[in-house]
Amino acid sequence: MKVCKFGGTSVASAEQIKKVAAIIKQDASRKIVVVSAPGKRSDDDVKVTDLLICLAEAALAQEKVDRELAAVVNRYAEIAAGLGLDHQIVQVIESDLRDRLTHSRENRDLFVDQLKASGEDNNAKLIAAYFSSVGLEAEYVNPKEAGLVVSDEPGRARALPEAYENLSHLRGKKGIVVFPGFFGYTPDGVMMTFARGGSDITGSILAAAVEAELYENFTDVDSVYAANPKVVDRPAEIKRMTYREMRELSYAGFSVFHDEALMPAFRHSVPVCIKNTNNPSAEGTLIVAEREYSNSPVSGIAADGGFSTIYVRKYLMNRELGFGRRLLQILEDEHISFEHTPSGIDDLSVIVRSHQLTPEKEARIISRCRKELLVDDVHIEHHFAMVVLVGEGMHNTLGLSARATAAISRVGANIEMINQGSSEVSLVFGIHEEDTEKVLKELYKEFFSSSAVVEA
Ligand code: ASP
Repeated sequence: MKVCKFGGTSVASAEQIKKVAAIIKQDASRKIVVVSAPGKRSDDDVKVTDLLICLAEAALAQEKVDRELAAVVNRYAEIAAGLGLDHQIVQVIESDLRDRLTHSRENRDLFVDQLKASGEDNNAKLIAAYFSSVGLEAEYVNPKEAGLVVSDEPGRARALPEAYENLSHLRGKKGIVVFPGFFGYTPDGVMMTFARGGSDITGSILAAAVEAELYENFTDVDSVYAANPKVVDRPAEIKRMTYREMRELSYAGFSVFHDEALMPAFRHSVPVCIKNTNNPSAEGTLIVAEREYSNSPVSGIAADGGFSTIYVRKYLMNRELGFGRRLLQILEDEHISFEHTPSGIDDLSVIVRSHQLTPEKEARIISRCRKELLVDDVHIEHHFAMVVLVGEGMHNTLGLSARATAAISRVGANIEMINQGSSEVSLVFGIHEEDTEKVLKELYKEFFSSSAVVEA
């Protein structure tokens, strides 16, 4: 059996949902269907999840919410009309939203989560109704009843280990299960959403729980590309990659698959296939535990901005027991997680996502480093990007870093940091944000132009 997840653009309109039904009809093994909330119908459109966040915020600000509520309800009304469904389903959705608006606002995050989660929840109900109307035996299944238990972290919940056991019974269910993505419930029954884009995570958890033969993740591109198609002209398609490669690439900016979504599939050895709802006959990208090496040691190049560096220097740091722990403790106290920690004998840089910092936090970090760690120098710099070369077997390829650094220097960009040590499948370069596009283009040329592939 297969678990299929359809992302926001795949369920953004009646026309798209008809394609989803055709895909499900075409293969009887597609038994569990996880859906997102309606996403963007065009580049300048707004996702229903974002409309719901606006609705929640207006309600929290004690404003009138008629306009925001109508914006959400109208999206469903348009979809329901396009699918030929009775208007009653729209009334059900509207009263569900009104009900959610009456929930306690004491904990703002929980209130926002309530509304955010309704995007997928109501879409799943609507899609199940449509499936039934076109002769598919389908049933909406609620994550609470099914046992998708998650941690108590609004907006960034994680599945608890017992969720897998709880959900495994879905394998034996008759007909097609239509399951809303993006949220679960704490053991106390409180609704929590995953991180944004988290319907991928729900799909992966279900695929792992029912031990699916395949987890198909339907989106709006034919495959995962070797570099961002918005920057590189017609990049190569990746046909097959390993979990580790996908994990590194999605961490570093490939938005086609959520980086948290890989773990459940990986741990339960469920292969993942990224496919296109608008072109389902395209083969897609298959993500598996192992792959044969292709001509190129590099399978993809990702780049992501928005990083800051906390740099500290202290003479004889290498001899000081517990220095790193104490520095990281300061960051932990500020609720900051770190991404990389390149170090020298007397220097250590901690690279973090900039959105976690505020001027107040920075001032506290600097002052504690001076007072408690007695450092010789500490400063924080912003506007860095991380460019990541990813590929199995890359580390055994002679001269690869030399080629990469030569390519970066050709475009006049300075390398601020290199991290090759810890991961076997990636090589990370820290550069200034403004150099990102030209570096990405040049690295792509270096490793993917036809002459590069033949040479490698
Ligand atoms: N609808 C949610 C979001 O926009 C989750 C998802 O689509 O995966 O973040």
